[in-house]
Amino acid sequence: MFLIIALLVVTLGYVASCVVWPFKACRTCKGEGKFRSPFIRAVRLCGVCGSTGLRPRAGLKVWNAYRRLHHKNRRNR
Ligand SMILES: [Zn+2]
Repeated sequence: MFLIIALLVVTLGYVASCVVWPFKACRTCKGEGKFRSPFIRAVRLCGVCGSTGLRPRAGLKVWNAYRRLHHKNRRNR
């Protein structure tokens, strides 16, 4: 029983953290949206995150997938 409650708390905590902060810093540019080329003195925009420095977290992807699925089911009806 305790395990179920602990799992519920962890899941709710993760969901809450996804609601509050649905994005995480981009790993490629370390959240800056751009990075310097090591050889040429040039600043390049990060293509992975679209130069925003933010990447959607896994929870957001799951939520988007769920919403897409839900929307598709509703449309078929
Ligand atoms: Zn990036």
